[in-house]
Amino acid sequence: MKVGIAGAAGRMGRALIGAVQDREGLELAAAVDAPGSSLIGADAGELAGLGSLGVAVTDSLEKVIADLDVVIDFTLPEATERHAQVCREAGCRMVVGTTGMTDMQVGHLRTAARDIALCYAANYSVGVTLCLKLLETAAGVLGDEVDVEVIEAHHRHKIDAPSGTALAMGRVVADTLGRDLADCAVYGREGRTGERDRKTIGFETIRAGDIVGEHTVLFAGEGERVEISHKASSRMNFARGAVRAAAWLAERKPGLYDMQDVLGLRGRGS
Ligand code: NAD
Repeated sequence: MKVGIAGAAGRMGRALIGAVQDREGLELAAAVDAPGSSLIGADAGELAGLGSLGVAVTDSLEKVIADLDVVIDFTLPEATERHAQVCREAGCRMVVGTTGMTDMQVGHLRTAARDIALCYAANYSVGVTLCLKLLETAAGVLGDEVDVEVIEAHHRHKIDAPSGTALAMGRVVADTLGRDLADCAVYGREGRTGERDRKTIGFETIRAGDIVGEHTVLFAGEGERVEISHKASSRMNFARGAVRAAAWLAERKPGLYDMQDVLGLRGRGS
């Protein structure tokens, strides 16, 4: 399977280059980064610290799409939106890892997925995907008897908050409890807040140093609390998950999938 990486010069892009190289059956055929980037023309392998791979970073997905079976995109919401259109027109599968997308931008992914197999997940780690399943169980058992808070920490370069993973975790809890996250989410607190409303789901964000990604969902009741936590220590686990999703898409019909589908967790009893 011929793979193109969009955002190849970024933190995730470099990890993805290594992960594609490590996976049998996948071949790095193209690396794309933003027009104007000083790294256009650089060898993708050199960027990933692997030595030359003979694949130069190009500044446009359109130039290389005809050659590709799947695009893995970890860029910016606006870029991902455009890339989804390019993939759709070329009939090329797509794995999207970009976070911070608006509902409208996610709607564009959904539209593209009518014609191509597209996997979109806020977090490609196997551990986080498992945590989403565990959260469904915890929320189902603990119900409205507990206060739910989502706490996340990431490196200082992250540009969106709360993280896409924190929102995905909050959404699973809200859906399980029959709440609408848009109505019940509280983002940070300050000043005279009044007593906590049990039906809310709180989000707290930490941005510091080089933290790769940490998430805890707290279910706090009277006299006890349950915490479900995930800590990522390397970007490689996201990259391996995304590459696994790319290989999995090879056999899939057009449609919108996520990491739970890739791991076969969809519909499995919780
Ligand atoms: P980064 O800033 O290091 O890399 C992004 C790259 O995209 C940069 O090299 C940038 O030049 C490039 N880019 C921007 N516009 C482009 C365009 N039009 N065409 C091609 N490339 C373009 O960021 P990062 O830490 O690698 O994260 C990238 C995204 O992935 C973020 O949204 C982040 O939240 C998300 N992320 C998702 C997961 C997951 O598992 N889903 C894990 C980590 C990060």
